[in-house]
Amino acid sequence: MSVTRTALVTGANRGIGLEVCRQLAAAGVQVILTSRDPEAGLRATAALGGADAGITHQRMDVADPFSVFECARRLDERGIQIDVLINNAAVYPTRGVLELGDALIDEAMDINLLGPWRTARSFMPAMIRRGYGRVVNVSSGDDSMTHGLANSPAYSVSKVALNALTLKLADAVGSGDVKVNAVCPGWVKTEMGGENAPRSLEDGAAGIVWAATLADDGPNGGFYRDGQPLPW
Ligand code: NAP
Repeated sequence: MSVTRTALVTGANRGIGLEVCRQLAAAGVQVILTSRDPEAGLRATAALGGADAGITHQRMDVADPFSVFECARRLDERGIQIDVLINNAAVYPTRGVLELGDALIDEAMDINLLGPWRTARSFMPAMIRRGYGRVVNVSSGDDSMTHGLANSPAYSVSKVALNALTLKLADAVGSGDVKVNAVCPGWVKTEMGGENAPRSLEDGAAGIVWAATLADDGPNGGFYRDGQPLPW
């Protein structure tokens, strides 16, 4: 008998996160769609079919430690265990490296790096105790050290740091079936990706769902696009 897993997706009210929720639910995973704006999250949840489709909403602002903690507490109180964590929420400040003020640098680091760190701290210890977990950090291949940090400075630096965090988390999983990987969705048509992006939401989300549903012989501590390894 196959076990029904529960996934939590951050920043899932639109873009790639929303499509990841749709694909996971279609694959039979129970989905907690989270958003910082409750109204936007509830609208998105309803648009995907809500509880009938296996999708419920929780508020989570990944930049706010208390919001992450409270979300984890509410789920725990209801006896909901998170088996799969998708760290998808991100922002893309566009200023140059010498023009960025502290507020924009702080925002990028807070959401793109510390957010995944906070959610990992909230949900990974229970995964390790139970011996099952999948964590996917949504990163960017163009912003790896090998690919020359192609995008805006605060974004590039935050994604390289997220890749480093991925490796550190992957080192902490112990001997159970817990896997932490970074995934690049490619250049996808979303508010962040813009109109000219060549990839669809469906294609961008598919590689994330692949890493979220890896079998027990799947990789831990890797970086992937479309299931293929990327250089860090
Ligand atoms: P997007 O359309 O801009 O959506 C970003 C999502 O993150 C929104 O739902 C946004 O919520 C949410 N968010 C921002 N700050 C948050 C916070 N503090 N707490 C919770 N949620 C927050 O971006 P996307 O293109 O779907 O990107 C999704 C992921 O893919 C990101 O990690 C991005 O770096 C990565 N990625 C994207 C591309 C691409 O071409 N699109 C390429 C490489 C990697 P609001 O609606 O409240 O703002």
